[in-house]
Formats: sequence, C-alpha cells, structure tokens
Amino acid sequence: MTQTTGRLIDGNALSKQLRAEVAQRAAALKARGITPGLAVILVGDNPASQVYVRNKVKACEDSGLHSVLEKYDAGMTETQLLARIDALNNDPGIHGILVQLPLPAHIDAHKVIEAISPAKDVDGFHVASAGALMVGQPGFWPCTPYGCMKMLESIHYDLKGKHAVVIGRSNIVGKPMALMLLGQNATVTVCHSATKDLKAMTLQADVIVAAVGKRNVLTADMVKPGAVVIDVGMNRNDEGKLCGDVDFEGVKQVAGWITPVPGGVGPMTITMLLVNTMEAAERVAAA
Ligand code: NAP
Repeated sequence: MTQTTGRLIDGNALSKQLRAEVAQRAAALKARGITPGLAVILVGDNPASQVYVRNKVKACEDSGLHSVLEKYDAGMTETQLLARIDALNNDPGIHGILVQLPLPAHIDAHKVIEAISPAKDVDGFHVASAGALMVGQPGFWPCTPYGCMKMLESIHYDLKGKHAVVIGRSNIVGKPMALMLLGQNATVTVCHSATKDLKAMTLQADVIVAAVGKRNVLTADMVKPGAVVIDVGMNRNDEGKLCGDVDFEGVKQVAGWITPVPGGVGPMTITMLLVNTMEAAERVAAA
C-alpha cells in the first residue's frame, strides 16, 4: 500500500523522553553535590517574552534543575545589565545564562550576548559558540536547530549524501541549522528572501527545514514525495491559532515525515536548553 500521509515527528513525546534523561543526569550530579543552575534574565514587559521565560523556568524545575528568574524593568541600563551578567559569570551555582531577546532598544543585544561567558552560553548565541559550531569544536549549539537535529535523529534519518534545503538564514536558526546538517554530511542549500525560485530548490530536497516566520511558505506542490519536513515557524492563522510556515494539511499528504505546529519544534527548543544547561554543569563537574 502506498503511504499518502506523512508520519508525524512528535516534539512533545520526544521532549518528554529527553527531559526524563535530563532529570536522571541532574539527579546523578546532585548526588555529587552539584545542582545544575540556569539564570534567566528578562528586561522589560514584552508579553510573549514573559510567557517564554516562565515556560523555561518551569521546565527547569520539572527536570530538577535550579533556575533563577531575574526580571528588570525596561529602564534598566546596559551598564547595569552587563554588571549582572558579570556577577552571574562568576557565580559557581549558575551553569547557564540566558538573556531573553528582544532587549529594549537602548541596550545593545550583541554586546550583552558577548558578555556571557562562552562556558555558560546555553543559548548558543555567543560568537565563540557560533565559531565552535562552524569549525566542529565542542561548544553550545543554538537550541532550536539543535532540537531539529534531535528530531531527525529520533526517526533514525541518515543525512549522509541527502539534499537538505533550509529556508531562512538567521543567526539563531537558519545558519546554525545549515552548519549542523553539513556536519552530518548532507548537501545543504540555504534559501532566503532573495532566493529567486524557492520551489525549484525545495522540490530537490530530501529534507526541508522552514524557518521564515510566514504562513504557507511551503505548500504541497513544493515538496518531493517522501521528503522530511521540519517546520520551525511560529505564526498565527486567521483564527489567531498558532501555526507554522508549512501548509501542514497539504504537505502532510506528500511528505514522508512532518513536524506539527504546535507540538513540534517549539517544545524541543526548551528541551535543548535544559540539555545544554545540563551539559554546562557536567563540564564544570568534570573539570
Ligand atoms: P528571522 O530572523 O526573521 O529570519 C527569517 C528568515 O526568513 C530570513 O533569513 C529571511 O531572509 C527569510 N525569508 C523571509 N521571507 C522569505 C521568503 N519569502 N522566502 C524565503 N525566505 C524568506 O526569523 P528567525 O528568528 O530565524 O525565526 C524564523 C521563524 O521561526 C519565526 O516564525 C520564529 O518565530 C520561529 N522560531 C521558532 C522557534 C521555536 O522554538 N519553535 C525558535 C526560534 C524561532 P533574509 O535573511 O533575506 O531577510
């Protein structure tokens, strides 16, 4: 019988499994007197950011990690924020530091991220982390593309020699995603807003990662039968419901595997933050 509907890669189920592993590792480290700790800094009152940081802190607690949420009003100066990061860099109880973006306009986000010690850069946004990924050295991988790689691993997908098309080239998703796929010996094409014929690219792909932030960027006619489709996008449809970049109903008829939104990449992003924080703490313990 021919398969006409793509199989789902369930980000919630995979997250549950990975978070249980984190909880076990956290318990093992605690038995040695070290509790993995994450500091989350939020400046200002962006409603979406408030939800994100709450979810991150709760996920830490649920997995037995210690977390500190530092909330500051939008008037915090850059100097004050840099001083807090310096203090957290030197705090032995904190293994990971996350500054929720976006920051208020008067604060230089790049300067702030660069102030985080690379050893505690569990978001993987520091230039040192990006460089480590680029040259294949140990470092922290950005959580969202790292989560996408775990999803591919979960279906035992061998990327070697496959053609992967990444739509989007941001520093936090598209570019690191392309490097991770390349690291697994895929042939990688990166598309962006100036790409002339997106459909011609995606039709050649064995794996498509959509990370654009626009609904229906990928439709069924753009997908080769059997391809794996990973949807990073987070958008709202006309009814105000969360949806991705991919026309899920159409593309699932063609794809071999597909991630849903919600319940796909989203939960994986937080899960990989826990994994990175755990890793940071284990590296300290091993030093
Ligand atoms: P971003 O910084 O805005 O980057 C979007 C990328 O899409 C850019 O490289 C842009 O090209 C490209 N693009 C825009 N229109 C395009 C088009 N019509 N065709 C092809 N490429 C196009 O966004 P981001 O931070 O990477 O995030 C992308 C999406 O993922 C957003 O919806 C975001 O909310 C979501 N996201 C989800 C998670 C999660 O946990 N699920 C995490 C992070 C992000 P140019 O470079 O040429 O402008």
